[in-house]
Amino acid sequence: MPRWLHSAALILRSQAHGESDLILSVLAPDHGRMSWIVKGGKRSKKRFVNKLEPYTLLKAIWVARRSGLHRLERAEIGNLYPGLRRDPQKFAAASVLAEQLYAWTREANPEPETFRLACAALDRLQGDDPRVLPLTVLRILALQGYRPALDSCTACGRRHCRDWFFAAHRHGVLCPRCASRTAPRLLAPVCAGTAAFLRQALASPEALDLVMLYAGFLLQRDLPAWEVYQALTGQRSPQPWRAVR
Ligand SMILES: [Zn+2]
Repeated sequence: MPRWLHSAALILRSQAHGESDLILSVLAPDHGRMSWIVKGGKRSKKRFVNKLEPYTLLKAIWVARRSGLHRLERAEIGNLYPGLRRDPQKFAAASVLAEQLYAWTREANPEPETFRLACAALDRLQGDDPRVLPLTVLRILALQGYRPALDSCTACGRRHCRDWFFAAHRHGVLCPRCASRTAPRLLAPVCAGTAAFLRQALASPEALDLVMLYAGFLLQRDLPAWEVYQALTGQRSPQPWRAVR
């Protein structure tokens, strides 16, 4: 007996498969990350027209298959997030988010909080608030158990400092004294202020670099969407995690 399931699901990736099929990577609250095959999805003018673009929220019905490659049967649009599609930078930001969601979620592992966070973030990425992307990636990391320690030095515990250095390999900040004993290539300077650090830092362009530096260190692999985003927005490319092994 085929097992029919239904849920909201967010499309993270869409890949052509053969002449006419598509394979989608999606995130659903109670099913986690899944792969769906869409038979005839590339050509379907009726069933799936304009519904299978990345970063679309669907209400979907699929047939669960043992192989893990489930078959999408029907889909209605829950939210197309049209604001992302009119602006290449916003679309690139959504790609960075999707890349992180894909990297941090696992197949068949329920992710209700991450799912809600992702939908809210895509909605807000349509606007112009520069804090949405770094805050969201930081919250994804925190949900996975990697909240960086930003309130005190991770080496000596010192709490009050004018300047801090972020050290991905220590999962948080170092005070200048502890930082002076650490190879500079492992450090990224961050703005002054302890209590307000996070709020302040995340409102600045460096915040996204910092958060992505940490995500890159944790994942230890290339982040193509992040590289595209940097190229589009003219962000610098720190990538020191390549040397931090
Ligand atoms: Zn210290």
